[in-house]
Amino acid sequence: MISRRTFALSLPALALATSAQAQIVHTRGLDFDQFVTELWKDAQAKGITRITFAKAFADVTPDARVIATTKKQPEYNKPAGAYVTSAASVTNLKEGQKKETQWRQTLDAIEKRFKVERWVILAIWGMETSYGALKDKWDGIRSLATLAFVKYRDPYFRNELLVALRIIQDGHIAREKFATSWAGAMGQPQFMPSNFVEYAIDFDGDGKRDIWTSVPDVLASMANYFSRAAGGWKWGVPWGFEVSVPKEFDLMKSRATFEEWATLGVRRADGKPYPANGDGILFFPAGLPGPAFIVTPNFEVIKDYNDSDVYALAIGTLSDMMQGGSGTTKTPWPKEPTQLPRDDRIALQKRLAELGYDQTRFTAHIDFKMRDFVRAEQKKYGLVTDGQPNAALLDKMGVKRQP
Ligand code: CA
Repeated sequence: MISRRTFALSLPALALATSAQAQIVHTRGLDFDQFVTELWKDAQAKGITRITFAKAFADVTPDARVIATTKKQPEYNKPAGAYVTSAASVTNLKEGQKKETQWRQTLDAIEKRFKVERWVILAIWGMETSYGALKDKWDGIRSLATLAFVKYRDPYFRNELLVALRIIQDGHIAREKFATSWAGAMGQPQFMPSNFVEYAIDFDGDGKRDIWTSVPDVLASMANYFSRAAGGWKWGVPWGFEVSVPKEFDLMKSRATFEEWATLGVRRADGKPYPANGDGILFFPAGLPGPAFIVTPNFEVIKDYNDSDVYALAIGTLSDMMQGGSGTTKTPWPKEPTQLPRDDRIALQKRLAELGYDQTRFTAHIDFKMRDFVRAEQKKYGLVTDGQPNAALLDKMGVKRQP
């Protein structure tokens, strides 16, 4: 399954950018007309009527601002710790607790049906749209059409555009109200059109799946996503926790059961015991000497919602704070940014593939499989094997870095 918003953070360089992109202007040129004409054939084949289509595309032009936005990556401009701290803020915590009180009965019913704890749902709601307070301002059809037109992550956005037309035609939302994020994410959970089709739920029983204005529908739709994405949320299992690792610990060891971690002397920083069953991955999101975590399969579910380690850490931290956690780490976060620029991450992914590692993603996203490949390379060059790629490793590996 395609992760919900993989594209929003991965931003493969617009290397495909071609004449179509170069010509992006706020007017509707011949190329765009041709794109719309070709799209109509596919739309028609999918049961979209001429009326829906014509109304959707009336006065739509490519939007240069959408292209500009694809080049921004807030998650990576900040040091990881600063990102987590600003996202898992006291404001977000207090508002989340208020919402929990306000919607307690609904959340009780959602937990019962979907087996996903309320805290992670509330945290996602807070992060995505400040609990519904932030409203989308982009014309969804225009944004999706722009991304499809320039073949950004093609055919992903073209398909999403076709699904969006179906959502409008089916009356879930009116064309004139179809506002989304710059990349087509919709409503309070920021679902992509295909996520709406697959996961949106009518939980207040009015017959409509309304992720724009019905809070019960919003919360249940997110819970439904979590219950089914990336292997499904495991009830009662934490997303992860900070740990302390003994001196002289062999950091090549990255995966183990909780029982094994305990035997190896890796302790939870909060002093609590490990859950009775399960496993986790040892993870240094900002490298050593920054904080270490053990993350569980539930962390991967959060990443499926938004494929970013720091996003998932912020969600986990905020949900812990809602349950009384301090929100701070025992080991301080490094003050300086520790994330490689996107182009360097892609260059590293290509180099790993050349070296024979089973690296098949070249979208700049770093997953735990890739972190193990990084550990192997770090070991080769006598570097600390924390799995967090940095400039020193790239230099040793002969990966050409961005100037
Ligand atoms: Ca409803």
